[in-house]
Amino acid sequence: LNRALNKANSLLHEASITDTLTHLNNRGHFIVRATAALETCRQQRQRFTLAMIDVDHFKPINDREGHMFGDHCLVHLAGILNTHFQRAGDLVARYGGEEFIAHIAGGESDGIRTFLEELRLKVRETPAQDGKRAYGLTVSIGFHSAVPQSEETLEDFIRHADNRLYEAKRSGRDCVAGNL
Ligand code: GH3
Ligand code: MG
Ligand code: MG
Repeated sequence: LNRALNKANSLLHEASITDTLTHLNNRGHFIVRATAALETCRQQRQRFTLAMIDVDHFKPINDREGHMFGDHCLVHLAGILNTHFQRAGDLVARYGGEEFIAHIAGGESDGIRTFLEELRLKVRETPAQDGKRAYGLTVSIGFHSAVPQSEETLEDFIRHADNRLYEAKRSGRDCVAGNL
């Protein structure tokens, strides 16, 4: 009985931190872990980078190809994100809808833009496929990267990254915009 209860508990825990469609971390879990990672970066005077990743023109994909294929595209992207954010200080999650969020704890300033550019290229070079069709997707990425100052919160990082994402969208999409 104990073993069954432990198993049930760990399945429940897993479900509570996972996005049901993509199986990435969900937003709530991201917030908890990113808050802790930001705190560690502040104490150790390390860089913390927050990136918002939004699929370009996703609504027309749903409208033309149907929501099932739209869902398939999100799962496809989640796979790319999962393989890209692999290092110990990395964490990626589904923020909601067709938006994803990631943090990088540590790292050098020149490496970070390159790393996010590589992600953008990986997405555009890997179409979503379902046997009947292949669909090229692109993403816009906004990021904010800094050694956290004494009063700076995760919310501040998200707000700054979101503003940069808006810039990336305005400057034509399929690009990375950030403060480095
Ligand atoms: P932009 O380049 O400006 O980001 O344009 P967009 O079309 O991607 O943005 P918009 O916010 O207009 O549309 C987002 C779409 O994402 C609308 C919504 O139907 C779709 N969407 C959100 N969540 C899901 C989901 O779980 N599955 C599917 N299939 N579609 C989703
Ligand atoms: Mg969006
Ligand atoms: Mg979008």
